[in-house]
Amino acid sequence: MIKVNKINKYFYIPNELHALKDITLHVSKGEVLVIIGPSGSGKSTLLRCLNRLEYASSGEINIDGENILSATCNINQIRAEVGMVFQSFNLFPHLTVLENVSLAPISVRGKSKAAADQRSLELLTKVGLADKVAYYPGRLSGGQQQRVAIARSLAMNPKALLFDEPTSALDPEMVGEVLEVMKDLAKEGMTMVVVTHEMGFAREVADRVIFMDQGMIIEEGNPEELFSNPKNERTKLFLSQIL
Ligand code: ADP
Ligand code: MG
Repeated sequence: MIKVNKINKYFYIPNELHALKDITLHVSKGEVLVIIGPSGSGKSTLLRCLNRLEYASSGEINIDGENILSATCNINQIRAEVGMVFQSFNLFPHLTVLENVSLAPISVRGKSKAAADQRSLELLTKVGLADKVAYYPGRLSGGQQQRVAIARSLAMNPKALLFDEPTSALDPEMVGEVLEVMKDLAKEGMTMVVVTHEMGFAREVADRVIFMDQGMIIEEGNPEELFSNPKNERTKLFLSQIL
């Protein structure tokens, strides 16, 4: 589903920075890949390259057989097909929960309002928020807002979903409800790339874990292997700091 071949990413402002160095990774359909690593190691940049919020400086990225770095590739289509859930939910405050979820299917996909709202209601029911459809985001807890954000991504019927530290901004008591929704998606076969330091989630749900440091993939393995028996010194050090 996702094939990344030797991508590099440079930033030039404020200083030249080689943020991703020869990153190669594959994610199969239905697979859950968890990415861990210290702050500044390039995790967000890598995710953002996968739906072209950042444009990789070199290398190849194929999503479901399509070269997303090609000049002819439709960027709106890529972003619809590869959904992203951010740490800071980014809901529209002046739209209701239902309107937030229906917006892109109506404006980008050209769905009728009735059809979009019906699908949104199904998705909001799935994430446990059927009773909140008429609320404005400001009246919801962080965990509820993040579940709306997940429903909003699902409304575009994405081929894959990217999660960038989806629970990092939440109060501890709300982390579980968001992870539950993500676990359900994984069980249903959604292809997912998740940046998270929730090791319980990684152990239970991830098919594979990648450890990144300084723009490189340092180590990769199944969660049991990588957490219990890390081979690289940098991985050992990082795990000892967060576990
Ligand atoms: P992580 O998500 O692992 O914390 P990031 O991908 O956000 O790391 O950042 C990797 C490096 O790239 C950091 O040094 C960060 O400061 C830098 N960086 C990220 N985005 C930009 C940008 N738009 N412009 C310049 N530098 C950036
Ligand atoms: Mg980040």
